[in-house]
Amino acid sequence: MTMYVAMNGQQQLVTVQEVERGLACGCTCIECGEVLIARKGEQKEHHFAHHSNKESCEVRRESLLHLFAKQVIREAMGLQMPHLPGQPPEVGDPSSWWDFELVEEEVWLAGYRPDLIAHLRVVVKPSRTVG
Ligand SMILES: [Zn+2]
Repeated sequence: MTMYVAMNGQQQLVTVQEVERGLACGCTCIECGEVLIARKGEQKEHHFAHHSNKESCEVRRESLLHLFAKQVIREAMGLQMPHLPGQPPEVGDPSSWWDFELVEEEVWLAGYRPDLIAHLRVVVKPSRTVG
């Protein structure tokens, strides 16, 4: 299977068209994590190849979507979801924006490793002073 998508050094999914040629692409394989080379020659269709010369990995759509979803959440630093508990909905709006101050990826917790840990941004309302 030809590989057209890879992970760059900033943990973003990139296509072979977007990156520099060769090792300078700074990419790794989505499936196995090996270093990739962007093959952008004149003859064949541009693609990624493992630096080790091993056969191309089969990039599963599920893996790609999973990685892309994590990237979207990391970049947006939030998600549009049902209202936060205890926060009254605005009229006509069935959802609200959950604003994150930190999104951590693949952090091991006690016995499990969630894909992402999102820390809600806590908005502290200034207390009123009477006088
Ligand atoms: Zn691979």
